[in-house]
Amino acid sequence: MERILVSACLLGREVRYDGGSKRSDDALLAAWRAEGRLVPFCPEVEGGLPVPRPPAEIEGGAGGEAVLSGAARVLTPAGDDVTGAFLAGARAALAAARSFSVRIAVLKEGSPSCGALAVYDGSFSGRKTPGSGVTTALLERDGIRVFGEDRIAEAARHLAELERAG
Ligand code: SF4
Repeated sequence: MERILVSACLLGREVRYDGGSKRSDDALLAAWRAEGRLVPFCPEVEGGLPVPRPPAEIEGGAGGEAVLSGAARVLTPAGDDVTGAFLAGARAALAAARSFSVRIAVLKEGSPSCGALAVYDGSFSGRKTPGSGVTTALLERDGIRVFGEDRIAEAARHLAELERAG
């Protein structure tokens, strides 16, 4: 059975920076959970950050790929550099994915770790910019397809393709 890496906050785990979750009531996610497909993971907590914690954004409107290559940092509003924890969390997520032979992930859109198509622009003003989070960028380097929680139907089509191909 094809396993799916999923942001732990989407399953109701209270691991977000503000101490809350972002529970999704999507029926497909519930079905996958009942089938035992899901591998829940929070890169920021596994990278060593506490709950709650200050928000963080990738500087300069860059995406996760720039963080992986050392061209951008992840900062809090006070200017604290949390890049190391974000990189550690991304590596831990990749290790978890590999241990379950994961080829598909459903992650929280907009997060500096988990974002798939958009991240906040580094100004802490609520503006988003195209780009992926640090964990997403590392997973995609490894060939894992990442979908935001607003694209679960697309993820389901990709899952069906993977299972047809074997
Ligand atoms: Fe959710 Fe990902 Fe943020 Fe953890 S790092 S709280 S899993 S969006």
